[in-house]
Amino acid sequence: QANAVQAVRQVVEYCTEHYGPLSFASEGGSLKLIQARVTGGGYAANGCSLLDEQDFTAQNLSDPEKGAVPGEVFIHELVHQWWGLGNMFDTAGAGSPWSAEGLTVYTTYRIVKELYGDDYAQKHYVNQWRAEVEDYYLNFYIRHPEYLQKLPEAERLRIENDLAYVRWYSEMPLMLLKAEELVGGEEAMDSILHGLFNRELDWSYPYLTYQEFLDACGLTEEDLSLA
Ligand SMILES: [Zn+2]
Repeated sequence: QANAVQAVRQVVEYCTEHYGPLSFASEGGSLKLIQARVTGGGYAANGCSLLDEQDFTAQNLSDPEKGAVPGEVFIHELVHQWWGLGNMFDTAGAGSPWSAEGLTVYTTYRIVKELYGDDYAQKHYVNQWRAEVEDYYLNFYIRHPEYLQKLPEAERLRIENDLAYVRWYSEMPLMLLKAEELVGGEEAMDSILHGLFNRELDWSYPYLTYQEFLDACGLTEEDLSLA
């Protein structure tokens, strides 16, 4: 339990320092809330609703797409307090890699890199993304989408889900890594993300869009193409 609290603290400190405090985290309320949940001390919906995915069960915590080991899935779920909850994302069109998952996976990678070192993060994150994306580009239905339309609906939806998963959890993080390189490195990317996280929200459309991200980086969609 002490370790869980320590882990929560590390992630919250990292995200607060790099992106800014959660707006509902005054007086450390949010942190206490999350700690209470982690340590099984009960959960009160105190102005803080957790995402559906945010599920601290053994099954979710061992999902390899979200982190190499259970502790890292836990980091992923906590990072959603910033990307996904603290900042909401629009659901970009079908086929788009943009979602809350991209920045959440990227941030998880950065935290893991800080905690366990470059080699570990490269092996368990960047290399995994590359392998997934390589397979994805070779996927029959990505190369021949017209055949996907011919499948029975349940089968088509299952495959579309799998493909979207790769786009959100592997392709976008790789594109963010490319953006990081193009803007001049981690520090430059962190300052861009800090700016986006704290931007003035347009309440008629408060979602963080891919275009806003690209504009903040001074990049185009083509710049981030991995092909
Ligand atoms: Zn997620």
